[in-house]
Amino acid sequence: MINNFDVIVVGGGPSGCAAALSASRAGAKVLIIEKNSCLGGMGTSGLVPSWCPVHKELFSPLVLEIFEEGYKSLSITYGDKEEWVPINHESLKLIYERKLLEARCKILFCSNFIDVKGITGKRILRVWTGEKFVEFSAKILIDCTGNASLSKMLGATLIHSKQKQPSTLCFVVGNVNDELYDESALHTNNPQSPIYKIISDNNFPNIRHAHFCSKLIAPGIIAFNAGYIEDIDINDGFSISKGLILGRQMVQEYIVALKKYTKAFNNAVIISTASTLGIRESYRVEGEYILTIDDYNKRNKFYDAVVKNDYFLDIHSKELNENYLRKDNNIENYFKNYKKGEYYEIPLRCLIPKGFEDFLVAGRIISVDEFVQGSIRTMPACLATGEVAGKEAVNRLKYI
Ligand SMILES: Cc1cc2nc3c(=O)[nH]c(=O)nc-3n(C[C@H](O)[C@H](O)[C@H](O)COP(=O)(O)OP(=O)(O)OC[C@H]3O[C@@H](n4cnc5c(N)ncnc54)[C@H](O)[C@@H]3O)c2cc1C
Repeated sequence: MINNFDVIVVGGGPSGCAAALSASRAGAKVLIIEKNSCLGGMGTSGLVPSWCPVHKELFSPLVLEIFEEGYKSLSITYGDKEEWVPINHESLKLIYERKLLEARCKILFCSNFIDVKGITGKRILRVWTGEKFVEFSAKILIDCTGNASLSKMLGATLIHSKQKQPSTLCFVVGNVNDELYDESALHTNNPQSPIYKIISDNNFPNIRHAHFCSKLIAPGIIAFNAGYIEDIDINDGFSISKGLILGRQMVQEYIVALKKYTKAFNNAVIISTASTLGIRESYRVEGEYILTIDDYNKRNKFYDAVVKNDYFLDIHSKELNENYLRKDNNIENYFKNYKKGEYYEIPLRCLIPKGFEDFLVAGRIISVDEFVQGSIRTMPACLATGEVAGKEAVNRLKYI
């Protein structure tokens, strides 16, 4: 038996949730398929500590609705709503779930699509779910997998980076003395941060990079986005497994190191490591337009603009920056962050894979170059492109 839907969204991260929500709210019969056991992607399973800055004049009411509810669910007072608001991961799972159920979207957890067949406007996804294969058909598909997994199977052209950004296994620590905890004192940007002692301490051989961000997310609870795991091949299960194993070993080292070098963590315990390895980038899908670093630098605007963004080119790769530096010789100018009020636009064409009518992409895999990927991959921007993909899917139902 085939289950028929208007729109199927594969991947339940921020982009997938927003895509499914906007399409459902516009009246479409929508299914969202998620391989993990909850919605939210990196913001929940991935234990990312905080939202990248949400400048509310840039984002749509739907993005702000989710962000505001997340903000309200915090059990701590957090002053600046525009800067790196912490995430209560359990609340965020519920927020997405409740909103999708209210919009009458069907949610399918613990399910992995295996392949896709059929013709334009009538695609059939074969999914491993409930310990068996089930087929689902849709008029429009949206790839929100973060890794372009569906796009690859549909034969879309993928954009590869010369140098992929490293991965990170985020984690959460409890029983921290929050009066002694000081986020900026720990951060990489502080030359006095204990991370510099930690990386030169032979007792912690797996901690090799100074990347060290943390956030108080609840009383006594700190979430970490720290350390690099390099050369992960997302097409190789063993490579991902190796990354997860190394990540968990690193977390054990971090907790011992924090006890050694800080007072706030004297009695700390590890609450959880993320169930998903934090992949910053894998592939993008070539769309009708590829947004480039020149568009970013010129703050370009487009006739088919659908999203505004001002986040900087947050690229975790020294090598990539240096390669670019050789070309331009003035990286500071090249990567200059925006001033308040400045923004670039993302055209709808970046969400439309070249050569396809019944298939859209959203989130960190949209059609951008490897530099702009560093800017569009934030959760607020992924919510925004997801929302647009959901709306565009419903538009396309009229003529597909
Ligand atoms: C280590 C790290 C730290 C970060 N820190 C921040 C931060 O502080 N603030 C911020 O705003 N952003 C941060 N980001 C960026 C942001 O979290 C991601 O770029 C964003 O979540 C991407 O959204 P997405 O919807 O495209 O993909 P994801 O969030 O990755 O969601 C994709 C979903 O698709 C599911 N999926 C994948 N394949 C399949 C399949 N075959 N079948 C079914 N489901 C599938 C996955 O399980 C996942 O739930 C960080 C990213 C990383 C990796």
